[in-house]
Amino acid sequence: MDDTKASSSKDFIRTIIDEDIRTNKWGGKVVTRFPPEPNAYLHIGHAKSICLNYGISQEYNGVFHLRFDDTNPCKEEEEFVESMIEDIRWLGADWGDNLFYASDYYDQLYEWAIKLIKDGKAYVCDLTSDQISEYRGKWNEPGKESPYRNRSVEENLDLFERMKNGEFDEGSHVLRAKIDMAASNMNMRDPVMYRILKVSHHRTGDKWCIYPTYDFTHGQSDSIEKITHSLCTLEFEDHRPLYDWYIEQLGIHHTQQIEFARLNITYMVLSKRKLVQVVENNYVSGWDDPRMPTITGLRRRGYTPESIRDFCSRIGMAKSDNTVEIELLEHCLREDLNKRANRVMSVLKPLKVVIENYPDGKTEELDAINNPEDESAGTRKVPFSKVLYIEQDDFMEDPPKKFFRLAPGREVRLRYAYFIKCVDVVKDEQTGEIIELRCTYDPETRGGNAPDGRKVKTTMHWVSAEHAIEADVRLYDRLFTNANPLDVDEGENWLDNINPDSLTVLESCRIEPSLKNAKPQDRFQFERLGYFCVDKDSTSDKLVFNRTVTLRDEWAKIQKSRKK
Ligand code: ATP
Ligand code: MG
Repeated sequence: MDDTKASSSKDFIRTIIDEDIRTNKWGGKVVTRFPPEPNAYLHIGHAKSICLNYGISQEYNGVFHLRFDDTNPCKEEEEFVESMIEDIRWLGADWGDNLFYASDYYDQLYEWAIKLIKDGKAYVCDLTSDQISEYRGKWNEPGKESPYRNRSVEENLDLFERMKNGEFDEGSHVLRAKIDMAASNMNMRDPVMYRILKVSHHRTGDKWCIYPTYDFTHGQSDSIEKITHSLCTLEFEDHRPLYDWYIEQLGIHHTQQIEFARLNITYMVLSKRKLVQVVENNYVSGWDDPRMPTITGLRRRGYTPESIRDFCSRIGMAKSDNTVEIELLEHCLREDLNKRANRVMSVLKPLKVVIENYPDGKTEELDAINNPEDESAGTRKVPFSKVLYIEQDDFMEDPPKKFFRLAPGREVRLRYAYFIKCVDVVKDEQTGEIIELRCTYDPETRGGNAPDGRKVKTTMHWVSAEHAIEADVRLYDRLFTNANPLDVDEGENWLDNINPDSLTVLESCRIEPSLKNAKPQDRFQFERLGYFCVDKDSTSDKLVFNRTVTLRDEWAKIQKSRKK
């Protein structure tokens, strides 16, 4: 991930790390981690965190850990662990041997819980969860102490042991830290450390029926791994005093937590919990639907890891919440695809063209440039013959003033081929629909230029009917109609902001034959139409393409209007 350019202008996190290195705070070491909870698929917000944590470990010659914070056995599944590993690797982050699971620390955490009980810093509480929240009070008024708060150490040890042995029902007892029920920070009001959950865990199986809470796990996991800088999003700011409290009570390695703003992008929802609803209500075909902001969805859509990393480095690090325009993400994608995607010709809505003066049965192989941005991509041959397809949109029988494409009597250039002129229009007798154009070509214009210097206003893409392959093409629009989909009034449902027309499937598109052996994930620019990639739904009989992004750079437009 050496293209993480963020170091050129130091953000506040890197400034802190520089200072720590200067003062030799951690003996010059930098150890970062990405700590997802395996309860869903990763999204582009997580990519920001991954790029930040991994990028910093690389820039400072440090170490990067991947740790699954798997403290909630009810919601976690192996499927999510596997998808996260695949996605993080695809993004280009490398954790080497440093793959960890918070669940591997359960024994250690249990011992630490015992220590806190023995030190009079934790107690078993029999209040119900409703009572616990009621006793906790409100942010502007102190809470009330639990009647179980002053149990003896012996009683607490006995009850905690029996919780662990499965003697009690779920919800009947919890272990709580004994801190301060009047603390202004609600997280410090005797938070729950352990709860009884009689469910098996994806890694520890049925070994445990008590599970540590995320808050009793996260900070200590960082500590166990000797993480130097624990970089997390702002919602954990209020949890930091609690993590610090546990670490101080236990006298263990004190990781420095630094918070940064979550990534928000217009027209996207970046919350795992919310994305679960999109998937479970079948608004999309699954986590990897190309309309999803998940890493797996973006990959299937045709995004490159380079474009996502470039985006993450361009947005930089902020200390307060903000929203980035989706157009910037698409701009980064276009820039990258422009360099790497070969150009081909494909016709999405075919209109038949017969070249009347072209010999029957003849085929010419014409030279076409694969990528004008990359000479090393070379050239290829495209077959030309008497019957072609052009785009329906490229012809108008009765064109308005500004329409410069094909029309009756008009001449245009076919890319890499010839000038053609429309001489007749054939219509369906019943419907009046245009079903075929009769054209002539000028043999003198082979390659696309007229020796007499005459000009045409348009160059169009085309395919040879006999040689083209048929494919389905899926066009996507934004998944939400509203730039801030979660921004709804009371009584309204954010899911109503889902765009009902976010997917259009075009069947029987005609694709240049050089793509015959294209494989899922292969990316192309269909000339004049956008960037496309082969979808995994392709079969040996039929290719399926996703449009990754159109060619129009909306970001440039936004930038221009800002300068005004
Ligand atoms: P969500 O709230 O979306 O359901 P989460 O934030 O709880 O998910 P975790 O698996 O806990 O997801 O996140 C792993 C790491 O990714 C955390 O360090 C978190 O701060 C970071 N992260 C999550 N969402 C974003 C985001 N939108 N932008 C930047 N970092 C994020
Ligand atoms: Mg979380």
